Order: sequence, then C-alpha cells, then structure tokens
Amino acid sequence: MDMLDREISELTGLRIGEQRLKAFHKLGIVTLRDLVTDFPRAYDDRREARLISEAVPGEANCVLATVGEPPRLSRIRKGLDITKTFVFDGMGRMDVTFFNQPYVKNLLKTGETYYFYGRVERKGTYRPQMQNPVFEPEGSEPVTTRRVVPLYRLTAGLSQKMVMSAVRRALELCGDELPEQLPAAVRERYQLAQTRFAYENIHAPRDLESLELARRRLIFEELFVLSATLAFMRSCQRKKSSFRVENADLTDFYAALPFRLTGAQSRAVAEILRDMAGDHPMSRLVQGDVGSGKTAVAAAAAYACVKAGYQAAFMAPTEILAEQHFKSLGKLLGPLGVRVDLLTGGLTPKAKREAQERLRLGQTQLVIGTHALISDKVEFADLALIIADEQHRFGVQQRAALSDKGDTPHVLVMSATPIPRTMALIVYGDLDVSVIDELPPGRQEIDTILVGEDKRRRVYDFIRAQVAEGRQAFIVCPAVEENEEDPGGLKSVKEYARELQEKIFPDLRVALVHGKLRPAEKNAAMEDFAAGRTDILVATTVIEVGVDVPNATLMVVENADRFGLSQLHQLRGRVGRGEHKSYCVLFKGNAGETALERLRAFRKTRDGFKIAEEDLAIRGPGDFFGSRQSGLPDMTIASFTADIALLKTAQEAARELLTADPALEDPENAVLRESVMRMIERNKGTFN
Ligand code: ADP
Ligand code: MG
Repeated sequence: MDMLDREISELTGLRIGEQRLKAFHKLGIVTLRDLVTDFPRAYDDRREARLISEAVPGEANCVLATVGEPPRLSRIRKGLDITKTFVFDGMGRMDVTFFNQPYVKNLLKTGETYYFYGRVERKGTYRPQMQNPVFEPEGSEPVTTRRVVPLYRLTAGLSQKMVMSAVRRALELCGDELPEQLPAAVRERYQLAQTRFAYENIHAPRDLESLELARRRLIFEELFVLSATLAFMRSCQRKKSSFRVENADLTDFYAALPFRLTGAQSRAVAEILRDMAGDHPMSRLVQGDVGSGKTAVAAAAAYACVKAGYQAAFMAPTEILAEQHFKSLGKLLGPLGVRVDLLTGGLTPKAKREAQERLRLGQTQLVIGTHALISDKVEFADLALIIADEQHRFGVQQRAALSDKGDTPHVLVMSATPIPRTMALIVYGDLDVSVIDELPPGRQEIDTILVGEDKRRRVYDFIRAQVAEGRQAFIVCPAVEENEEDPGGLKSVKEYARELQEKIFPDLRVALVHGKLRPAEKNAAMEDFAAGRTDILVATTVIEVGVDVPNATLMVVENADRFGLSQLHQLRGRVGRGEHKSYCVLFKGNAGETALERLRAFRKTRDGFKIAEEDLAIRGPGDFFGSRQSGLPDMTIASFTADIALLKTAQEAARELLTADPALEDPENAVLRESVMRMIERNKGTFN
C-alpha cells in the first residue's frame, strides 16, 4: 500500500494518542495524504527579531532576550495560574507572562537566551509585557520563531505545533512518494516547481520566494486536475448524436417574431444550430443578463428541433415562469403549427395525466414545465432537446436526470445570473458557452436610489405618483420561504401587506405573493398584476427570476442589505422592461458600512457581470450559488476569485493534454489519471 494512503495513527516517531487522533479526524484528516494536503490557511512572518525597545506594542514581535530571574508560578484561583518572569537584552527589559502553562517554570533557565514570539503590550510607563509567547533557545533549530511559520486549521485538542510536527514527520516518511501529477512538459512550459519542493515549502517555507513558488505550483496543479477531470468526463460522455437537426430553416419563425434579433441573439442561435447539426449532442450554456432576450433564443432552438420532427422540453424554475413561457411561446409558435403544452405540479391530477399522455404519444411537440418534467412518470416519445431556464435554480443532478429521459438529447442551459467568467469555467467546464452581451434596443434607464427609514413617507408618495400615472410597483421583502425556523417571517410580510393596503394605500389595489401560497393562488396574483388589475405587488423573492411586466416601473426593496448584489440585480431587472422610465428604490435596512459601500457600488452599475464578480469576491463561491449545490468541488488551495490567471493557463494546459490523450491512456499520464478518478469518485453527487 502507498505510504500516502496509510493512516496517520501509523505515523512512527510521533505519539498520536486517541484524543489527538480524534481531533485530526474531526478536521477530516485520516491518511498521510490528508495531512500533507492540509495546507496552512495563513502564515506568520517571524523572521525579524527586534530589540525589546523596538518591539511594536499591540503587535506580535520576535525578540531575542535573556531570562532575568527564575519564573514564579502563582495560583490565582481554580483553573487559573500565572507564570511570570522578566527578560532583558542590551537595551531594555520586558515582563513575560504565561497563563495556565505551569511547565514553563522548568523550561526557562535564568541567564539563558531565547527567541520569544508573542504579542507585546505596553501600558503607560510600565515595562512592556509579552503574554503567552512561544520561545526557543538561541542556537536551536527554528521551528516556531525566526522563520515564516505556517498556521493550520485547528480544533480543540490540537495546537499549531502538533500539526506542524505531524506534517513534518509525514513529509519525511512519504516525501519521495508524493505523486507528480503534472506531466514534465507542462511543468517545464509553465515553469512550475517540483512536487517535493512545493510540499516542503508550502508547509515550512524557506523564505517568501520559495513559498510563492510552492503556492503557484500547487494551485496550478489543483486547477489543472480539476480542469482535466471536467475535460475527461466530457470526452467520455461524448456520444454520437441521435438527433441531428440539419439545414434548419427559421424563416417562418423570424417572420412571426415581433422584433428583429439582436446581433448577440443571432450569434447564439447560430451556435446552437451548429451544435445541433453536429456529430455529438449539444451541451451549451446561454448566458445573458436580465432582459437580454434569452427566451427568443430558446424558442428558435425549440422551433428548429420541432421542425426536424422531434420533441423539445423547456424547464422553468417556478410555476409562474412556466406559465408565462407557456403563454408567450404558445402565442409565438402555436400559429406556426407547433403543438405546445404545459405540465406543472399545479395541474389537477387528471389534467396532468392527459398532458403526460400527449407527451408519451408524441402529440405534444414542445412541453413547458417545472420540476414535474423530471418526475419518473413523464415519458417522451422523441425528446431531442432540453432547455433549462435560469439554471442556477436547478441542481446539476436535475439537469442530469433530465438528460436521462431521452436518448442523450441536446441540452441548452439558460442563465440570467451573470456568472463571472472564471466561475463559469469551473461550474460549466463541461458546457460550451454563448454570451448574449447586448440588450435589445430601446431599453429604459433605471435610476437606483438608496434610502433610509426617514424617507419612507416620500417613497410611499412616489409609489402613489407612479400609480397615478398608470404604472405599477413591486415591493419586495426578504424571503420568508427560505426561513423555515422563523414562522413569524411570513406573518410579518402578510401584516406588512395588510398595513399597506389598509393604512397607506386604501384607495389602491395591493396584492401579495409569497412562497407559501398554493401555485394556483400565486398564479392568480401574478396574472392580476401582469394584466394591470392590481397596482402594487408585495412579494418575496418568488418574482426574482424572469417575470415580465413591462408596465411596472418601480421596484422597492425592503432591507436591501439582506440581499446579495446579484439578487438585487435580478430584482432591478424586473422594471425598465417597457417604454417608461423606471426606478429601483433600496431601503438600507441595517446595512453596516461595508454593506452600504456595496449598495452604493451597485447603484452605479448595471453591468451584471461586474456585479457578480463583486458578489463572488464578497461572499465566496458557495454562497454565490446559494448552497452547497453549487456544483463546485471543494478546493483546498486555489481561491476562485484570486487565481483567475492561473485558472486560465491550467485549463488551457489540461484541454491540450486531453485533446492529445482523451482517455488518459498514455503511461506518462498515469498519475494524472489516478487523480482524475479520485476526484470523480470524491465528487460523485456534484458532477453529472
Ligand atoms: P431574459 O433574457 O431575461 O429571459 P426575455 O427573453 O424575457 O429576457 O426578454 C425580455 C424582453 O425583451 C421581452 O419582453 C422580449 O419580448 C423582449 N425582446 C427580446 N429580444 C428582443 C429584441 N431583439 N428586440 C426587442 N425586444 C426583444
Ligand atoms: Mg428569462
């Protein structure tokens, strides 16, 4: 068995007792491999030793000084004892105090000189004092002083020193076995350090330059293996296409469309048609900001597919959106002879059964629905194209489940969340990407205004003024359906809506939608609003994605600080969709200074990609997608935001390698193949 796969309990020369072992296990460290790949989360530069007189108060300092008297141990009370002494150098004196470390008394010898590292405090004219320092005798090998010291994740029962020595021992034992996953050519071309050097210096950096070299190599390696894994899976999945859509003629479709496609839309359609005519099934992501016109692109794809004699399925994240798409696509494609149907959880059992029957018999050519589409009961006659709208609401698994429905159909994923390009590279590493980076002409400017509670009256007046002009307004409150533990949340939205109706706008028509409504009720409320039968729609984020009401010109967001910027961007995109000037009013809520900063930045830009980058930087990738469902494998060292340039090169290198050796059969790539397999195994639920 490989040394690396041995358990850390077998580390010879270290007494790892049961408690300590438990602590390591708690951190997920079981094998030597786990231990040596548990990279420090930070470093402390302790190289510079200062004179006591030059020590910076309030900061950690490294000081070389001689012990001036035998340490005195005093018991303050049960559970608290203090060991005290003083130290001196040529220029000054300093008190040194240890809490609950009685053994220090026997370690520090009067008249001997040590390096001390710890935080220095100086109160008034008193001597400076160092508390709980680490120390090492002058002339000893530097471990916790005089060098760049790694800082590891810890848990109760583990100290930095324990982890450090375990790692050191592990590297001694398996240093020669550390796998070189990078082919020599790649390492040379990108000038990457050797494995052993990298591991040694990431854990115990010789100096900052070596640390940087080590870091660069390990990040590159991690991203390279990830990219290689995605590319490998893709090349395995590449089956022959069963549904070639050739010579698609969209003339009728274009004639029926009430507008001309923008250049960006046309490009996306062309890419889709090229994919669907190819040898392999399409896997394409269409990424376009809110309002960029993705639906028309999807409709073109569906039309081409239906015209070629196949079925297409369009999956929306909510019933409201499914219905909306059903209506607009029915209106557009129905007259062209396409039989469009709706299948959602909200249908009566009978209606559902009938819709399923029509699908199974191939009477329906384009079906629009929600998750219900991927229920086991749904069978298709000839499913050739799956469109998933607003994909970030779908787990990768769901996408996969739908793929299983047909004979490997084409997959088209639409995303309005402008995923930062870097992130898309990873999350959608297995998809081709079309970007719609152009809005249809004649879009309205949206003024974004940030207000405090003191402006509430004026905001209400403004709502009233807009309604007087015939417009409509959204008022969005932080979600209640995402907050199961707080049943009061729903009550408060309901109460708020009632108060608005009864006290503030008794003469206007106020409606409420929230996640706990039954689908039929929700749809009715949305329909009323879309048809102009209500003036003000109070809502939780159910309206976030895709809803299209051109007459709505005002988006008011309560507690804007509780929303992510990308979410706010989606909300703001609900207005400014018609011919009227539109506004987005954000109530600051309890925004602290940083949150305010973000909101101010948000005010100034409408570029969804920029906003997404910002969000990503602030909240990190997991949160960015709302959950652990993000589809991102855990990365130990690479940070998705910071290592963009490296990600690109790593990805290029991986793609190149996989093009030359698609199945990773070359003996040169054996180690890489093993790592790829391990990553697939580890991320089973995440990758499809
Ligand atoms: P999203 O990309 O957010 O899904 P939609 O597909 O809902 O955007 O389109 C937003 C609005 O823009 C819709 O009302 C749609 O009819 C309109 N639209 C789409 N493409 C064009 C175009 N090329 N010219 C004019 N209007 C368009
Ligand atoms: Mg849409």
